[in-house]
Amino acid sequence: MNIHEYQAKSLLREFGVPVPNGVPVLKAEDAETAVKQLRGPVWVVKSQIHAGGRGKGKFKEPEAGDKGGVRLARSADEARQFVREMLGKTLVTVQTGEAGKQVNRVYIEDGSLIDREFYLSMLVDRTTAQVAFVVSTEGGMDIEEVAHSHPEKIVTFSVDPATGIMPLHGRRVAKALGLSGDLAKQAGDLTEKLYRAFVGKDMAMLEINPLIVTQDGKLRCLDAKVSFDDNALFRHQDVAALRDETEEDAKEVEASKYDLNYITLDGTIGCMVNGAGLAMATMDIIKLYGESPANFLDVGGGATKEKVTAAFKIITADPNVKGILVNIFGGIMRCDVIAAGVVTAVRDVGLTVPLVVRLEGTNVEQGKEILAESGLNVVSADDLDDAAQKIVKAVRQQEAA
Ligand code: GDP
Ligand code: MN
Repeated sequence: MNIHEYQAKSLLREFGVPVPNGVPVLKAEDAETAVKQLRGPVWVVKSQIHAGGRGKGKFKEPEAGDKGGVRLARSADEARQFVREMLGKTLVTVQTGEAGKQVNRVYIEDGSLIDREFYLSMLVDRTTAQVAFVVSTEGGMDIEEVAHSHPEKIVTFSVDPATGIMPLHGRRVAKALGLSGDLAKQAGDLTEKLYRAFVGKDMAMLEINPLIVTQDGKLRCLDAKVSFDDNALFRHQDVAALRDETEEDAKEVEASKYDLNYITLDGTIGCMVNGAGLAMATMDIIKLYGESPANFLDVGGGATKEKVTAAFKIITADPNVKGILVNIFGGIMRCDVIAAGVVTAVRDVGLTVPLVVRLEGTNVEQGKEILAESGLNVVSADDLDDAAQKIVKAVRQQEAA
């Protein structure tokens, strides 16, 4: 799960991490009070969307101006003006894709005077099974670009969970950033606090870009991007409450209500499969025959009819879906449950695209019978290969017609 920058900063502040003071604004009318709560004399007005690259982003609407999604305001009037220009507009950045993201929240912050910009991130390194730090003097820019052109400027190390965070880790960060004296001390302090926040809140990723040295010699986090391990959300109600569903894919939000493993993709063939491995294989074979999957969906082992019905409805509601392939190998999952779910869903919402079903395993005969007796226009298939060929053919025929 991802959260907004202002939420991440407020969370980091709880752990004592130095971040500028700021106030989130959801309605243009509230800009006035927000500006008054801050000291100025310079304010930063920041579009809050779950994507980076906002500073260099562009708004679709001309009335939003061409100053990007992060703007420095030199007066309270200008700050209010920027809030009005951004709210409700669509910001396109390198990370949002062409469609962009609507800005529903803006963050106003006390502006900082920047001396130097650094990069710092933390993530769970699956190879070492440890929390890793990634640090670079090249902050404020695209880290992928730095990794490509100046890999030697990126320093990485991980923290052994058996010892936890220690002063040596802070010294490594300070050294990587070329800091000494009081700034090295601040780096040590920051490293420890970030680690405690990361582990304490079960984060999956934390990125501070830029981490700055202010002109009066203070280390400060100017941006913060945080994502959490979904499997640990149950023990962080405070974090779960920060979820902003308007930032997420509506189909994925719906799927998560039913505990379905669903991911939207950009192809045309909707897939309903049980088991992640079989789902992957199904996506591969669709590709092999020249089309692309519209989604990844693993309905899981012991899915109920309600769950299957919900899954099928999510697929049929997707306007990109030109055909559906149901591929079930019934082990724990019973084929008759799948068939009943499909039939219920189609009765509720109808079916306007071709449907190919391949069932195998537990209760396969009952499953086929349910489909046959339903009167639905279902093409049945014998194996994976046959199923993929049939759905690709059906989609192409429909398009030609
Ligand atoms: P991003 O573009 O989505 O990564 O958003 P950031 O929060 O990183 O802001 C973009 C850029 O705006 C930063 O890299 C800074 O150069 C600049 N910026 C942000 N806050 C301030 C500030 O308080 N003072 C100054 N001078 N620049 C800022
Ligand atoms: Mn940034």
